[in-house]
Order: sequence, then C-alpha cells, then structure tokens
Amino acid sequence: MKERLYLFDTTLRDGAQMNGVDFTVQDKLKIAALLDDLGVDYVEGGYPGANPTDTELFADDRKLNATFTAFGMTRRPGRSASNDPGLVQLLDAKADAVCFVAKASDYQVRVALETTPEENLASIRDSVRAAKAKGREVLVDCEHFFDGYKEKPEYALACAQAAHDEGARWVVLCDTNGGTLPHEVEAIVGAVTARIPGDRVGIHAHNDTEQAVANSLAAVRAGARQIQGTLNGLGERCGNANLISIIPTLKLKGDFAARFDIGVSDAKLKNLAHASRMLDEMLNRAPDRHAPYVGESAFTTKAGIHASAIAKDPKTYEHVAPETVGNRRKLLVSDQAGRSNVLSELERIGLTVNKDDPRVGRLLDEVKAREARGYAYEAADASFELLARRTLGRVPNYFDVTRFDVTVEQRINARDERVTVTMAVVKVKVGDEEMISAAEGNGPVNALDLALRKDLGKYQRFIGGLKLTDYRVRILDGGTEAVTRVLIESEDEAGERWITVGVSENIIDASFQALMDSIVYKLVKSGAPA
Ligand SMILES: [Zn+2]
Repeated sequence: MKERLYLFDTTLRDGAQMNGVDFTVQDKLKIAALLDDLGVDYVEGGYPGANPTDTELFADDRKLNATFTAFGMTRRPGRSASNDPGLVQLLDAKADAVCFVAKASDYQVRVALETTPEENLASIRDSVRAAKAKGREVLVDCEHFFDGYKEKPEYALACAQAAHDEGARWVVLCDTNGGTLPHEVEAIVGAVTARIPGDRVGIHAHNDTEQAVANSLAAVRAGARQIQGTLNGLGERCGNANLISIIPTLKLKGDFAARFDIGVSDAKLKNLAHASRMLDEMLNRAPDRHAPYVGESAFTTKAGIHASAIAKDPKTYEHVAPETVGNRRKLLVSDQAGRSNVLSELERIGLTVNKDDPRVGRLLDEVKAREARGYAYEAADASFELLARRTLGRVPNYFDVTRFDVTVEQRINARDERVTVTMAVVKVKVGDEEMISAAEGNGPVNALDLALRKDLGKYQRFIGGLKLTDYRVRILDGGTEAVTRVLIESEDEAGERWITVGVSENIIDASFQALMDSIVYKLVKSGAPA
C-alpha cells in the first residue's frame, strides 16, 4: 500500500508575488481550473482582504475538486481573534481551507513582529481555533521555520507544536528566505516529524540557492507529506519550488514512485507540458526551452552521434520517455544538425525521401541560412513542413498575392473621441481570376488577415474554419539591425493547431509571411487541388 503525498499549489498567492506577474480574477480562475484538472490537492487562491482581486475571488464559491484555500495572517498581537478585522474577513471568505502565516522564529517575532514569543504562540492557537470553529480546514505556514530552528530550535518547534495541538490539519515548514540546503532540511524536518506525525507536516521551499525542488524532496524523505509549490516555479525573488518538476519526479522516479501516490494520474501527467506552457502564455512570456521535463529542448538532441543513438533506442540519451509528461522527442533541425536529423524530421511529418537525395542537403542549407536570419523552425512546425515540401517540389502554387495595402488612420470622430481605424486591401490572383478584398480590423495584422481570408475563390471552402489563436512578436537583435520575428498559431475546425513563422525588419511583412504560411499549410493539409 502506497502512502499518499499531498500537493499544495500557491501559484495564485506566492507565485503572484513575482515581479511582473499580475493576475486578474479571470486569470486566477483559469489557472485554478488547470490545477484542478491536473489533480493538485490544494489550490491557494490568494489573500482575501489584501487587494480587490483576491477579495472578489473569494466572494463566490468556486466549486473546485481541490481544496480551495485562502491565505492570511494570524490574529494581530494584543487583539482578540474576533476583534481583528483582517482575520474576520479571512474567515468570511468562501474557501474550504484557511492557511495562516505565522512566524516561527524567536528573532523574527521580536524584531519584525515586535511582540513577545508567548504572545505569538497565543496568536497561533487563537487563530487556528477561530478558523476551526468556522468549519474550515486549517493550515499554518510556519514562516522562517528553518532559520528560526537553527537559532532557537525549541521555539520554532513550539510554534509548530502549538498549531498541531490546536488541531491544524497541516503544519507547514517554510524556508522563507530560501537559503537552507537539502541535508539541513532533511535533518530539521526529521527532528519535527519525531514530535509531530509526518502526515501532518508540509514543506514550503523557496529557490534562492536553486534547491527548492531538492529541499522539497529532502523533506519528504524525512517524513513530510505535503509539498507546497507553484507552476513553473513562479514566485518572489528566485521563485518557489517548481511543481512542474516535482510532479513527474514523484510519479516517475525510483523510490518516490514506489512509495507514494499523488493526486495526479498517469493520464493527467501527459498534460503537464501543456499546463506549463499555458501559464507562460497567460503571462506572455517565452517558455523556458530548457525547463526540465517540459521544455522544448528537454528531449531535443543536436549532436549527430547522440541523434543517431537515439534513433536506435531512445533510452540511450533520455532519462524518461517524453510522452509521459506530454513532451516530445526532437532531433534538431538547425545549425549543427546533420542529414540524419533532417531525415528523421521528414519521416515524422510523413515525407518519404531517399536518404541520398541531393534535395535533403539543399533543405538543410536552406534551414541553416534561414535560422541564421531569425526564423525559428523548431517552434514553427508548419513553416518547416512547407519549406521541406517546397524543397522537395510538392507544394502547388495555389494563389498569388500580387499586392496589399494597409492603412492605419487616427482621427477625432463626430463625438469628439479619438479613434483608430485600420483597413487592408489585398489583391489576389487565383488561376486566371483576380480578386480584390478589403477588410477593417482592430489592427494592421488583423485587417490584413481578414482581407486575405475574405475571398480565395475556389479555395475559400478549405479555409472557412481557419482561425488565428495566438500571435507572438519578438524583436531579435540580428547583429547590425533588429529584426522582427512573428509566430502565429492557427487552429482549424477539427481543433488541430499549427505554428508558422515570418521574419523581417518590418512587422507587417513578417506577419504577412506567417499568415501566408498558415493558409497554404491549411490548403496542403486539406488536400486542396492545385
Ligand atoms: Zn513563500
């Protein structure tokens, strides 16, 4: 019988402390749904009363399977629980559980809190009691626990003990400043679990020495049974323990996999890479290509020898199978790549070609030349496929855009409002037929997209279900002058998604290239006649 380990996500609370992260209520609900679907046990939503977003978030029952948790302070020194407005508001929040933060360091209590160690213990007991009386599950984050333990172990333990004795479901040991090392965590958590049962003890690690994941695992080895962390390790300073790395480690790695069960099923583990990328997308950040397990490069092989070994047996250079975490194996088509890599990519997209075909070398040269100019074919699969098909002579020339024109006009309208109007006109030649389409959009790229897809004559029926789902712009420092790279993600009526790329000094031109590739890719995929 395996032991149950619990996962507590604090992306929406501690993760939101990171510079540049600013979630709306809608963002928070989306992320909560993502975590809930993944099978995380606790979702900490925020700090009701601390800001309008979190207050609104906890004004309604959010109906998660996970235990929806509100974060807040224990009662203030010198006040009773019922006479502390912050605590009262916290206990009124529509949450299944309350996670209190309480200092567990004698030094912090005296210097930062400016109260006595005894009053701090009383505050912990009173707050736990008040929340339990309200029918909430209670957690107590023992802030500065490890530093406090190193200075005065008996006081840190007394804080944890007070929370436990009063009936807190979890006593969470926090490495608030993130400076504790794994062997220290293992020893200190061991001392705690000698007094408080490990299935009541949690770990909350920060990543200031890049050991938050290692510290979390060390705590589990010493008996702790709840791990707190965030998606992609989001969090203040260097971040929190990264659940995206912890989850697959617990599911797939030796001792942990053999001894413990977590709420994330094998099937849901396959959504891990997606969950990680979704969060980046919401934050409008480039995903970390080198993120363990889920990064685009996590299973990408560049050097020729490794690539040919992997082709024989993936286990030669992979620690787990990429599919288990929703990632995939990639043999890199770029700079140092050899012919064998290109051939594998061609095989993956279903193009069979003789390995001695001179066109393979031509394609490789073309890819290298374009990547040097800023094209990113690892991300833009559809553009790579088109380039490969064109080099192999298999893409019909469906239509030509002989001319386009985009205007952006800003003026004051009759109601004295400043308005921006964007219009695009596109001249397209399909066979012998010439067509002119115009469209207005909410920006130049949108207008161009709408005009381009308005009338493609006999091909119109193939692109009816096409829509753009994402548009990303990066300015690349291309040596002498900056160039713009545009990545467009498209989706069709069947829900299939693909990404195309365009590069130019001009953002409209870069967007146009990516739009054209997207449409042509759809026509190829639909088997549109030449
Ligand atoms: Zn924290």
